[in-house]
Amino acid sequence: MKNLLSLSLACSLLLLPKAISWDAGLKADSKKVSAVECLYADVSDANSILATIDSGLLSTYQGKDRAAWEQFYRKKRAELAKELERLPTSGLSGGDTRAIAAMRKQMKAFAGGGALFSPAAKCQDAARKDIAYPTLKSALVACFVEIGNNLSFEGGKINRVSALDLLHETSDVGRRKAVFLAFVPLWQAINGNNEPDSPYRRLIARAAAEAAKNGSEIDNAARDVGIDPAEVERWLVQILDAWRESSGDAMIEPWDFRFQAGEADRLLGTYIARESLQPINQRYYRDLGVDLELMGTLYDLSPRPKKAALAYTEFVTHGRMVNGVWRSTVARVSAPYERGGLFVLNELVHENGHVVNITAIRNRPAFVDWPSDLFAEAFADVPSWSTYEPVWQRRYLGHEAPEQLSLRALYSVVVLDVAWSLFELRMFRAPLTDPNALWTEITSRYLHIMPHPELSWWAVRVQLADLPGYMVNYGLGAILTAEMRQHISEVLGAFDTGDSRWYSWLSEHLLRYGSERCTRTLMKNFLGRPVSPQALLGQLHRLKPVTLRGNW
Ligand SMILES: [Zn+2]
Repeated sequence: MKNLLSLSLACSLLLLPKAISWDAGLKADSKKVSAVECLYADVSDANSILATIDSGLLSTYQGKDRAAWEQFYRKKRAELAKELERLPTSGLSGGDTRAIAAMRKQMKAFAGGGALFSPAAKCQDAARKDIAYPTLKSALVACFVEIGNNLSFEGGKINRVSALDLLHETSDVGRRKAVFLAFVPLWQAINGNNEPDSPYRRLIARAAAEAAKNGSEIDNAARDVGIDPAEVERWLVQILDAWRESSGDAMIEPWDFRFQAGEADRLLGTYIARESLQPINQRYYRDLGVDLELMGTLYDLSPRPKKAALAYTEFVTHGRMVNGVWRSTVARVSAPYERGGLFVLNELVHENGHVVNITAIRNRPAFVDWPSDLFAEAFADVPSWSTYEPVWQRRYLGHEAPEQLSLRALYSVVVLDVAWSLFELRMFRAPLTDPNALWTEITSRYLHIMPHPELSWWAVRVQLADLPGYMVNYGLGAILTAEMRQHISEVLGAFDTGDSRWYSWLSEHLLRYGSERCTRTLMKNFLGRPVSPQALLGQLHRLKPVTLRGNW
C-alpha cells in the first residue's frame, strides 16, 4: 500500500527527450521557477515530516518538534501559494510548465499532518445517514481501526492482518471458521445487514456519482495502461478464467479458500518468526543492490493502539540536490505486525518495493513524487513475488515449498485482488447492485467458493472504504508486475536470488522519473511495446489443475 493522498498526473502527450543523461533535467530552466521549486521541496518535506510525527513513530525530527514543523509548514506553504501565483504564464520551457502544473496539483493534496489511515472520525458515525461523503469514508476507515484491530478470537483480541494470516495456517476447520467469523462485527459495521442504505452502499453510490464527474481510480488505471475500462474488465475476467480452469471443479467454503491455497505458507511458517521478517527482507534487498539501512529507511512495524490498520509506505523527506550533491529520499514503512509467516513477509517485501521505487527517484523537486497508483502497486510486487519462488525460499529461508504449492499460494492472493477489482468495477458501473450478491457471483464462478450472500465477507480491505476503486491498482497492477518481472529477467536474468545490478539498472531505466512520466509512456519505453495480460496469463498457466485432497 502506498499513501493515497498523492494525485496522479494526467498522461502528458508532450514528447520527452529520449535519452537524458543521469543528472540532466534536475533543475528548472528558469531561475524564477527554480526558486519556487526549492520552496516547494521544503513544503513537501514539512508535510511528510508532519505525517511521520502524527503516525506516532517519533516526536521530533531533525531537532524540531511538531509545533515547530507546523509553524514552518504554514509559513512556507503560504509563501509557496503566493510565489506560484506570481510565476509568468508564458515564455517558460515545456519542462518548467509541466513542473508548475505538478506542483499546483500536488499542493492540493498536502494535508499538513494527520495520521494516515487512522482518521479522527468514529466508526459509529458510519450509521448516520446525514454525513458528507468524506466523513462517511473516514468513519468506515475508523471501523477498520476500531474493530479491525480488535477482532475477538478464542477469548482474546487479534488484528485483521493476523486473522487473515491465521486463515492460511489454521488446520482445524472449526477453528478456521471461527477466525473467519471473527470478522462479522467489522462486516456489519461496513455493510450493516446489506440493506440498500447500508454504510457501504451509501458510500459506493456517492463514489460513483463523484466518478461520473471526475473519473474513478478505474478510469485512471485504464488510461495508465492505454486501454478503455471495458477492456480492463475483459482483462480481469481473462485472469480469473485462467485461475478457474486451474483450480478444479470442487466448491469450497470461504474460510477454506486461503487455507487450501496456503499450504506453502504452512510449510514455511515456522522458518519465518516475527523477529526474522526484517533480517530476511534486508538481506534480499542487499542482494538486489539496495542497502535499506544505509538509505536511512525508518521502520515502524509493531502494533500499537489507534495505529493504521494496514501496511503502507510513505516519504519522510524527498530526494533533492543539496549543494550540488544528490541527497536521496528517506522513506518510512508502517505496519501492524503481530506475527511472522510467508504471507506477512511477502507484504513486507512489497512495502520495501515501494521504498525502492521512491528512493530511486532522481528528478527535479516537482517530480520527486509517487508515480501513478497503478505503477506504484505493480512495481512493489516485482521484488515481492519472488518470495513464492522455491529458489528464493531456499536461499533466504533455508527451506522451500514445492513449486506448485508456492505458486498457488501467491496467485490465490493475486486472483483475490483481481476479484475485488472486478467487484469494484461493476459496483461503480451499477452502484445500486447488491454487493453481497455480486461478490457471491464472482467468487463462486471464478474461485469455486460456496455462496454465502448473508455475509459481507468481501469487506476485509481498508482500501474498499478509504478510496473506492483503488483495488484495481492491485488487480490490474498484477498484469504490469508480471510484465516487468518478465522483462527484467529477459534483460538482466533471473533475480529471485539477487542481482547486485538490479537496483541501479531499474533506477536508470524505470524509477528515476518519479511522477514525471505517465505510466503508459513509462511502460511502453521500458517494454518496447504496450502492456498486455500475456505475461500474467503465462504465470497462471504454470499452475497445474489441482486434484483436491482430503483433510483440509
Ligand atoms: Zn502497496
